[in-house]
Amino acid sequence: MKQYFQEEHYMLQDMVRDFAANEIAPIAEALDKEERFPEELIPKLAELGLLGIPFPEEYGGAGMDTLAYTLVIEELAKVDSSVAITVAAHISLGTYPIFLFGDEAQKKEHLSNLIAGEYLACFGLTEPEAGSDAGGTKTTAVRDGDDWIINGSKAFITNAGYSGICNLTAVTDPEAKRPSGISVFMVDPKTPGFIIGPPEKKMGWRGSDTRALTFDNMRVPGSALLGKLDVGFKQMMTALVGGRISVAALSLGLAEGALNAALKYSDEREAFGKKIHKFQGVGLRLAEIAAQIEAARHLVYYASYLKDQGEDVVKVAAMAKLQASEVAVEASNFAVQVHGGYGYIKEFQVERFFRDAKVLTIGEGTSEVQKLVILKQLLKGL
Ligand SMILES: Cc1cc2nc3c(=O)[nH]c(=O)nc-3n(C[C@H](O)[C@H](O)[C@H](O)COP(=O)(O)OP(=O)(O)OC[C@H]3O[C@@H](n4cnc5c(N)ncnc54)[C@H](O)[C@@H]3O)c2cc1C
Repeated sequence: MKQYFQEEHYMLQDMVRDFAANEIAPIAEALDKEERFPEELIPKLAELGLLGIPFPEEYGGAGMDTLAYTLVIEELAKVDSSVAITVAAHISLGTYPIFLFGDEAQKKEHLSNLIAGEYLACFGLTEPEAGSDAGGTKTTAVRDGDDWIINGSKAFITNAGYSGICNLTAVTDPEAKRPSGISVFMVDPKTPGFIIGPPEKKMGWRGSDTRALTFDNMRVPGSALLGKLDVGFKQMMTALVGGRISVAALSLGLAEGALNAALKYSDEREAFGKKIHKFQGVGLRLAEIAAQIEAARHLVYYASYLKDQGEDVVKVAAMAKLQASEVAVEASNFAVQVHGGYGYIKEFQVERFFRDAKVLTIGEGTSEVQKLVILKQLLKGL
């Protein structure tokens, strides 16, 4: 992969690998079992600069590129996807929209705090009745003098219980044809009327924080508007393209972690007097999965590289997310299979990987939605 990476990328990768092995691996099983959000890791992640990889140094960021950020998320996910999604949602969905669309006052107020881990940020797009059809937002923001009054709700919001700022969408022009007429507001969760639900009980990502939000006559100042009025949906979709690359990186890391565990076990476990990878049903399938992971890796790094070149990555980001997330599900499923009965027992981390993988084909656009995005881009080229 020398065509993509410089020395600084490899140094960063080594640092994150050590951090994940020393600080995350020892607690990963407990976080999952106890459904505990690891608040204690946030200052440590910030201290290593991992909350600010793609942001300029003037805001306290590392001033590195998307490739560097991709490597960070990949390494974290090899050990614990919950920590990886906490960081990915904070950076790609919470902080990046402020960096992209915020005015200087908004950036000054929040970017350095977010990068320093003073608080996290979340992204409130999905609603109980608007997920894949995110333009079907029902939350409303109505002007009242210089303020806005927001009413509505959001569903499945990552980091919602630990955020100091939440970027949320609301309809500001009810007459406009959707998805126009939607705007983004940056809201402090301490605002009266901002109601944070209890943590969702989840199949996987149990060490990450996911909650519903309700807005009950929540009054926010005009300065809470992020970017331009009525084009918030377009802004959020721009942020989501970057988010998809980070979920693709996360999927890649999880798939690699699952494959490594399966390979190792297949070399230790014997049946019928042989190591189990000597049986073609096991060995050749491991090889097939390794090839699929390698294909995903190229797409993920390629999407990151193109983004760094300022190219339009809508299609390739969707392809990377589709390919990597589907491979993550397959790789973790087969890792459980290779472990036999032990794969079904909590002590072995592959069952956690299997549960963590499924959401990757759902969050930040389902696999079906990625295919629709790819098809639309293909048809544009006709
Ligand atoms: C753990 C977790 C964390 C999340 N974090 C966030 C977050 O931080 N912020 C946020 O805003 N959202 C978040 N989400 C929400 C996530 O992005 C949505 O769940 C996802 O986009 C799917 O929306 P939905 O759940 O409403 O499913 P639906 O849109 O109801 O889809 C149901 C099924 O129908 C299929 N479908 C729908 N439309 C089509 C179509 N046109 N063609 C083909 N098939 C279709 C879907 O692919 C899916 O299989 C999170 C979700 C989870 C589970």
